[in-house]
Amino acid sequence: MLYRYLTYRPFRAVTLFASLSLVTALWATAASAADDWSEVTDPLPGEPRIIGHHGGACLVGAEQLPADGVGYQAVDMKRNRHYGHPVLVDYIEDLGRRVDAAGFGPVLVGDMAQPRGGPMPYGHVSHQSGLDVDIWFRLDLPLLDHSQREGIDQPILVDSRTQRLDGRWSDRHAELIRLAADDSRVSRIFVDAAVKRDLCEREWDDRSWLRRVRPWHSHDEHLHVRLRCPPGADECVDQAEPPPGEGCRAIVPTPRPETYPSPSRTLPQACRAVLRE
Ligand SMILES: [Zn+2]
Repeated sequence: MLYRYLTYRPFRAVTLFASLSLVTALWATAASAADDWSEVTDPLPGEPRIIGHHGGACLVGAEQLPADGVGYQAVDMKRNRHYGHPVLVDYIEDLGRRVDAAGFGPVLVGDMAQPRGGPMPYGHVSHQSGLDVDIWFRLDLPLLDHSQREGIDQPILVDSRTQRLDGRWSDRHAELIRLAADDSRVSRIFVDAAVKRDLCEREWDDRSWLRRVRPWHSHDEHLHVRLRCPPGADECVDQAEPPPGEGCRAIVPTPRPETYPSPSRTLPQACRAVLRE
């Protein structure tokens, strides 16, 4: 989709005509108005719709994840980012039940999306479409009061010198990622390369889910789950499938950028009404 690659810039008159067809298909927000997505406090009610892709999208009919459920607890709730397409809420609740059945948890559920999706002022490039969620590796906390769930210390489990997992990494972490990935709704799970290596080195009866676990920098204290567009969501744009195979042959760490890119603020035109209504 073209809008993935376009960013806002003032049009010169000479390019205006050529751009008219794009203007009808696009809505590019100026930077000054962009924070509006983070200022909207409630979802837009209606049939759930995802308009766009994970790095440039808005959301109608989002559901808020209940702060507590079997096997999970939401954290950093003051950010107001625990919204998603209903399929994401279902997925997290199912994962919590499977974690609980496996005898551990609660897992800490971090950011999902804003009430109407869209770019966030800090923290993420994606998480715009209501199909992404961060789950922390920290597994040693009991159910906490809501007031204790802000800014929890999240230890980094990869030694930056050796690029190896440290002693706090456990079988439970590996099992958490297997449980998270072994679900046909999942498109990808991003983890540090050291985590992917550990998972590849383990013996599993079924290894098909390993394909969905992809090495990506800055995921040394959490995993990031991205779901596929749900069936029938025809305004939702999926990421291409990962390459075939387990992805275990050459696990190349992606370098952590010196400065993180800003999220795209170029959204499909239909998102204008989602923000303003
Ligand atoms: Zn994330």
